[in-house]
Amino acid sequence: MRAKDLERFKKMLLSQKAELLNSSRKLLTEEAQHSPDDLADETDLAASEINQSLTLRLRDRERLLIQKIENALSKIEKGTYGVCDSCEEPIEVKRLEARPVASMCIACKEEQEHKERIFAY
Ligand SMILES: [Zn+2]
Repeated sequence: MRAKDLERFKKMLLSQKAELLNSSRKLLTEEAQHSPDDLADETDLAASEINQSLTLRLRDRERLLIQKIENALSKIEKGTYGVCDSCEEPIEVKRLEARPVASMCIACKEEQEHKERIFAY
């Protein structure tokens, strides 16, 4: 991959990571403001429990995505970014533009998803 492209993907990944960290920080502050201790009413309590599990799930997804971003950034450092984890062929630049954290080419990703579907049944 060209150095210019690498630089571009690095910027994309870094800004995506900053955004994620920002939004999880916002979630944490919001949570602190709505601590269940302040709620007298049972309905409010139930609603706050739902909110909390939603927040947790969101945070799990964010953590996973941050991990993928870190992974992609370290690949940029090592010079292996844009290479498919599975077949070691270069990943299409168009695919990376849509999804800079992609670690597999479309063919391998589809194969993996196909296998996952079979195992799910
Ligand atoms: Zn592949």
